[in-house]
Amino acid sequence: MIKLEDIRVVTVVGAGTMGHGIAELAAIAGFKVYIADISMDILRGALDRIRWSLGKLSERGVLRESIDTIMSRITPIVSIKPDGSWSDDLARVLSETQFMVEAIPEDLKLKQLLFSHASLHIPENAILATNTSSLPITEIASVARRPERVVGMHFFNPPVLMPLVEVIRGAYTSDDTVKVTVDMARRLGKTPVVVNKDVPGFIVNRILGRFMNMACYTVDRGLASVEDVDSTVFYTLGFPMGVFELADYSGIDVFYLVTKAMAERGFQVLPCKLFEDKYNARKYGVKTGEGFYKYPEPGKFVKPAHKRELAGRIDPLLLLSLPISEAAYLLRAGIASKEDIETSVKLGLGWPKGIFELADEYGIDKVVETLSRLKAETQLELFSPDPLLQEMVREGKLGRKSGEGFYKYALVEETIKETIIVKKEKPIAWIILNRPERLNAINPKMLEELSRALDELEEDRDIRVVILKGSGRAFCAGADVTAFAGVTPIDVIRFSRRFQELTLKIQFYTKPVIAAIHGYALGGGLELAMSADIRIASEEAMLGQPEINLGFIPGAGGTQRLARLVGTARAKELIMSGEFIPASEAYKIGLVNRVVKSGTLDDEARNLALKLAEKPPIALTMAKYTIDMGSETSIWQGLMLEAGLFSLLFTTEDVIEGVTAFLEKRRPKFKGK
Ligand code: NAD
Repeated sequence: MIKLEDIRVVTVVGAGTMGHGIAELAAIAGFKVYIADISMDILRGALDRIRWSLGKLSERGVLRESIDTIMSRITPIVSIKPDGSWSDDLARVLSETQFMVEAIPEDLKLKQLLFSHASLHIPENAILATNTSSLPITEIASVARRPERVVGMHFFNPPVLMPLVEVIRGAYTSDDTVKVTVDMARRLGKTPVVVNKDVPGFIVNRILGRFMNMACYTVDRGLASVEDVDSTVFYTLGFPMGVFELADYSGIDVFYLVTKAMAERGFQVLPCKLFEDKYNARKYGVKTGEGFYKYPEPGKFVKPAHKRELAGRIDPLLLLSLPISEAAYLLRAGIASKEDIETSVKLGLGWPKGIFELADEYGIDKVVETLSRLKAETQLELFSPDPLLQEMVREGKLGRKSGEGFYKYALVEETIKETIIVKKEKPIAWIILNRPERLNAINPKMLEELSRALDELEEDRDIRVVILKGSGRAFCAGADVTAFAGVTPIDVIRFSRRFQELTLKIQFYTKPVIAAIHGYALGGGLELAMSADIRIASEEAMLGQPEINLGFIPGAGGTQRLARLVGTARAKELIMSGEFIPASEAYKIGLVNRVVKSGTLDDEARNLALKLAEKPPIALTMAKYTIDMGSETSIWQGLMLEAGLFSLLFTTEDVIEGVTAFLEKRRPKFKGK
C-alpha cells in the first residue's frame, strides 16, 4: 500500500488549461514533476503559463521558494511519437511515477487508451487519477491493469486558485487509493471532498446543474427575467455572481456541453431553451463578447450591474428547492457526507453558506411545498421532493424555525405577553405586536411591554438582532385612538413622550433592529418602524401618517424621522395629505430598504437578520451610532465621532479575529468582545 510519504514523482498528462495548473501545484508542493503533452510547442506554452502564474503568486508573497527552484522541478515530456503511438519517454517517466494525474481532452476512448497504456508502465502501487468532469471513473478504470488504483481527482479551474478538489471513488477504486488521493489533495494545498459513488457531475456540477437548470426553466416559463433571477441570487442570496452572469463568465458552451454529457449518463434535466438558443447562436458569454449580457469586447469581463429593486421579484426557493432536493439525495444515497456537500458548495461555487444551512433557513416545509407545487403545475417527476426532505417534514424537522433541520438549533423560546409575543430564535429575536383584532394598535400597555422586552433582549448575549413585526393582517395601524377618549392634553403629552422614548430606545439600541412590515404601517405603526435600522416591506404593505384626518399630527417622532428619511417636502406631503402609499412607492422615496414578495417577508427578514448576526456586534453598534448621531451634527463633529469610534474598535478582539480570518481566507467568528 502506497502512502503520501512514498510519493516523490508526479506525472501530469495533458498540459492544457487544467494540466499546467496541476503540475504547478505539484511543483510548489516539492514533488518532481513530469508534464506530458503531444508536442514540445504546447509544453513550452504550458511552462510559460506556469512561470507567469508563479510570478503572480510570488508578487502576493505566497511562495516559500524562488520561481526558478520551483520551475527546476518540472520536466516536459512529449507523450506521443510522430506516428501517433505512445512515446518511450512517457513509458520511462511513468515507470518512475508514484502519482499520475490525467488532464487530456474529455474523450472516453482517448482517456481509456492512456489508462490502459499507463497502467502497464507505472509501478504496481502507483495511483492513476483522472481530472474528468463528466466521464465515468469506472469506465476509465475498466481498461487499466489495476483498476483499484484508478480514482477521480476533479480540480476546478484555475486549479492554482480554486480551493476545492472532488475525489471520486469509481466502482473498483480501493479505500487506500481514495485515502492517498485525499492526502495528496491536501498536500497540494486543496480542500478535498470525497464522492463515494461515481455519479455524473459528482457533487458540485450536480448542484450547480440543478440551480442553473431551475433558473433557466423559470425564465423559460416567463416567471421572471434574467435580471430578476440574477438580482435575487446576487442580493437576496448573497452569492458572488448571478446564475446567468456565472454562465457567461465560465462559458455557456461549457455548461451546455457538461449538462448534455451528464444528461446522457442519466442525470435528468428540465428542458432549457434559453441556454440552447445562446449555444446555437454561439453567444457563449464573456469569451465571445455576448451571452446573457453584453461585454465591451470578447474576453473582457465587466460585472453586469444587478438591480437591488429587482431582487424581491422572485422567490429564491424557486431557484434553490431543486438543488436542495439534489443535495438531500446525495446525502441520503451515501454519495457524500453532509460536511463535504457543504464544503463543495462553499468552496466550489463560492456560496456564502452551505446548501443545508440555506435549506434550514428557508424551511424544509417550504422547500417541499415549492417542489410539490411545481410538480402539480408541470406534472414533471423531477420535481418530486427527495424522500429525505419529505421525511424531515413528517418528523417536524423544518429547519431553524423548528429548532432542527439538517442541523440542530438552540430551541425557539416563545413568551406570550398581553400585547406582544417575544420569540427567541437564537441568534435572533422577534418581537411580534399581538393585538391582531385591533390591527396591532399601540396602547400604553404595549408601549410598556415593548420597552421591557427590548431591555431584556439587550441583556441576552445570545441575541444579536431583533426583528419587529405584526401578527395578523397588519404590522400596526397606529396608536389605539380609543385610548384617547376623555384624556387631557397633558395625558397625551405623557403618552407621546413615552412612545418617543421607546422609539429612541430602538434607535440607540445596541443591536440592529429590523422592522418587517406587512399590511398597514400607519401613524404610530410607521413611527415605530421608522425608529428601526432597516425596514423591509411586503409588496402589499401600505404606509402613511394619517393623523391629520383625525385633527392631529404624528406624535411619536413621525414629523422628525419621516423628514429625515425622505426629505422635508415629501414628509410634508405625506403628513399633510394623510394619504397612504404602497410599498413600491415607499421604496422609491427611501422609506423602506426593500420590498419583497408576499409570503416571503419572514424568511427575508430572518435571512437578513442572520446575515447581520454574523457581523461584529460592537462594530454594528458603532456603525449605528455614527450614522444616526453623526447625521444630526456638523460634518466636523460627525467625522470626529467616526474617528473616535473607529479607533475604539481597534481595541476589540473582534478586529483581530476579522483581520486574521480575512488573511486566512475563512469566515470570521465574532464574539462581541
Ligand atoms: P485542454 O484542452 O485545455 O487541455 C488538454 C490538453 O491535453 C491539451 O494541451 C492537449 O494537447 C493535450 N493532449 C491531448 N491528447 C494528449 C495525449 N495523447 N497525451 C498528452 N496530452 C494530450 O483541456 P482542459 O480544459 O485542461 O481539460 C482537461 C480535462 O480536465 C478534461 O477531462 C476536462 O473535462 C477536465 N476539467 C476541465 C475543467 C475546465 O474548467 N477546463 C475543469 C475541471 C476538469
